[in-house]
Amino acid sequence: MKVDINVMKLAGLEPLIVDETSNFINVGERCNVTGSRKFLRLIKEENFDEALDVARNQVEGGAQILDVNMDEGMLDGVDAMVTFLNLVAAEPDICRIPIMVDSSKWEIIEAGLKVVQGKAVVNSISLKGGEAEFKAQARTIKMFGAATVVMAFDEVGQADNYERRVEICQRSYNILVNEVGFPPQDIIFDPNIFPVATGMEEHRKNALDFFRSVKWIRKNLPGAHVSGGVSNVSFSFRGNNAVREAMHSCFLYYAIKEGMDMGIVNPALLEVYDDINPELKQKVEAVLLDKHDDATDELLDFADQFKGVKKSQFKDLSWRETTVEARLSHSLVKGITEYIVVDTEEARVKLKRPLYVIEGPLMDGMNVVGELFGSGQMFLPQVVKSARVMKAAVSYLDPFLKAEKKDGESSRANKILMATVKGDVHDIGKNIVGVVMACNGIQVIDAGVMVPCEKILEMAEELCVDAIGLSGLITPSLDEMVYVAKEMEKKNMNIPLLIGGATTSSAHTAVKIAPCYSGITSYVLDASKSVPVLTGLLSENLQEKAIAAIRVKQEEVRLAHYAKNQKSEFLTYTQAQGNGPQLDFNNIIQPKKPGIHVFEDYDLEKLVGTIDWTPFFMAWELKGLYPKILESAKYGEEARKVFNDGQAMLAEIISKKLFTAKAVVGIFRAESQGDDIHLYDDNDNHLETLCMLRMQVKRKSTLKNFCLADFIAPKGNIQSDWMGSFAVTTGFGVDELAKSYEEAGDDYNSIMAKVIGDRLAESFAEHMHAKVRKELWSYVPAEDLSNALLIKEKYAGVRPAPGYPACPDHTEKAKLWKLLNVDANIGLSLTEHFAMYPTAAVSGWYFANPKSQYFGVGKIKKDQVLDYAARKGWDLETAERWLAPNLGY
Ligand code: SAH
Repeated sequence: MKVDINVMKLAGLEPLIVDETSNFINVGERCNVTGSRKFLRLIKEENFDEALDVARNQVEGGAQILDVNMDEGMLDGVDAMVTFLNLVAAEPDICRIPIMVDSSKWEIIEAGLKVVQGKAVVNSISLKGGEAEFKAQARTIKMFGAATVVMAFDEVGQADNYERRVEICQRSYNILVNEVGFPPQDIIFDPNIFPVATGMEEHRKNALDFFRSVKWIRKNLPGAHVSGGVSNVSFSFRGNNAVREAMHSCFLYYAIKEGMDMGIVNPALLEVYDDINPELKQKVEAVLLDKHDDATDELLDFADQFKGVKKSQFKDLSWRETTVEARLSHSLVKGITEYIVVDTEEARVKLKRPLYVIEGPLMDGMNVVGELFGSGQMFLPQVVKSARVMKAAVSYLDPFLKAEKKDGESSRANKILMATVKGDVHDIGKNIVGVVMACNGIQVIDAGVMVPCEKILEMAEELCVDAIGLSGLITPSLDEMVYVAKEMEKKNMNIPLLIGGATTSSAHTAVKIAPCYSGITSYVLDASKSVPVLTGLLSENLQEKAIAAIRVKQEEVRLAHYAKNQKSEFLTYTQAQGNGPQLDFNNIIQPKKPGIHVFEDYDLEKLVGTIDWTPFFMAWELKGLYPKILESAKYGEEARKVFNDGQAMLAEIISKKLFTAKAVVGIFRAESQGDDIHLYDDNDNHLETLCMLRMQVKRKSTLKNFCLADFIAPKGNIQSDWMGSFAVTTGFGVDELAKSYEEAGDDYNSIMAKVIGDRLAESFAEHMHAKVRKELWSYVPAEDLSNALLIKEKYAGVRPAPGYPACPDHTEKAKLWKLLNVDANIGLSLTEHFAMYPTAAVSGWYFANPKSQYFGVGKIKKDQVLDYAARKGWDLETAERWLAPNLGY
């Protein structure tokens, strides 16, 4: 494979790709004993649990690389590094990001490289000890496959002006690339960030020289990256965080512009560039750019007033005194609706025509929002709130636009048609992407949910859209998307097809969808990626490059996919059946209340305590575990805001009974026969045969090939065994509430209503499961588990849901519906592809055996598919269609 020197690939458990399209990469700096007293104390006390928490907080706070440094006189650095990295490797939520092995001692770096997993970064090597040592170290790093930071340091000393930086970096680069054969894209220069405003004449150009060297490196040393420790620059303002934050932001603003693409930054010590007090910003920039002789003195004088000042105290109404354009922009960026109508009217009068207001200040403001989001300075909830402000402005202008009614002025914005595919009803993700795109000036036409292919293509042609976006949550939607792609091909369409939604993936898109369509198909990971992807595909200048890049990437994904498929070993279906777990069926607890139980109007209040809030934040694209996320340095502030808004809405939903919760559960006598489970009623009449799938991948040593049927006593067992099923929903009222907000132009609360609906439904499933364990079946009457333990699935028994990993066949839901008469009992229905409607719903099976567990069936082979088809009464083709995501051949 050809290596692209413009792309640096790092990895923890997950890859981190750094190329010209990447945003600035921030390196988490708190796991450094020289920089953090707390971390040093934890390591000295061997309190590794808390030390890992420090690391975890960094990851949750948005660090993309984790710096680990154990250079302290009192520590055995090698031992501390090895111990800590080994512990980190066992924490998937930490080691998903690459590690930066940081030490000034070579033996610590080498020890770290030996244990670190993924593709790490060394911090650092330099010419300090001469060429021979430098080369030897670089060779070792290359052998370990790591990237490296190279300090601008040589035998004479540290580079402290522009010329020295250039000289050392050039020399280091030549040696690394030409003599050692080190991949240029794995070189990260650290050209030394030094303090400014120290009062010393020779420090005046420190920042400026740094910016110039960044520019020079990026231009003259192909492939190489630039990083640095940002907090150094504000060293002389220790104790004055307001000024330090402003300095860091301004410094990064200029350094990133010149090409600095990584840095060690404390996100808590960073102000949003546009939020900096304007006078402070001007004074800081004068110092950084060495604009005049008094710059330092002026900043020092001015800085005094900020000592001990917290950020929030800056929030004043001075922005109301600026121009109307600036005020509109401010309202949009901050999501403030309060003044939007007054300001919009003022702008309309000033600019003469309503269209000029939209295309002028409003779009400008939204562009700022788009940029801040794209560069990671704003988060999804803020963007959605900005959209609400935009809508309010546009809807105010609407009558004026209509009154003007000039023809031929239809805007030339890019148009995309978005739809949730046939058989699927989930639209939170689609709506979020729609809002974000609209914020970026893209015209979004929303075709709604359950949209058949024919309708999508008809609308696309009629409305002359520039792209189609398909969304779906359940696995049958994957196949439906393949179908749409094939139909687009038949019609010779050529517009980009975007794919998104929970079960979609870059692998499925590359392997299954893209090959069916000769136009370009692109997977969109989340809302933040939607705009750059679409803009790339639709811009005349970027199009060709963007398409080529996607095609190359998809080919790589396909190759990796096939290679992986070939690598996994399978058992024959018969062998897999022989390796199922053997459970004890001699102590079966007979249920207290077998049969069917319906709950018509369940008290919503009872469901609050079992809500799992982590997915709430995931829905808003704020990554991190609740409750820690509320304190996260990166997301904390926004997380707290969106959480408060969610809590407020939840309280209103409960007090006004806006949603209705309904459930039906059943407990039936059961026996397994092979991989089927038979269910019987009280009179031993056969009710239903459930068909289960079995893991077929060859497992390590003593691990078993699970099938849910293993958890039920086989036919002929002395004691009778039991199995349960459930369907719960809190969805009645959700769409109505969401719609009422939508009609008022409030996407933020519309999405919030749906997200809360989903949370309540999952909580209802949790609550009902506990009720079954404690009361109805009563197999653990005295259970007393905290919500945290419930979320960790520490309860006895499991409640696997059809369509999920242990029972991936969605069609089995039809049996569940029949068994519990779900439609008639609680009004919850299934679409043709077995999505539940209303969407805020969960359904599944109950297994009570204490040895039952969750697992994933994974890939299966044709022998099992044939057997399963026969059991289901399907032909092979039907079986392969429904089991498509699980086919391992
Ligand atoms: N606490 C999470 C649970 C999400 S999983 C939340 O609130 O979002 C949703 C449902 O999937 C669970 O209630 C359970 O019924 C089911 N489930 C979980 N793991 C499963 C597996 N491996 N196979 C089948 N179903 C599973």
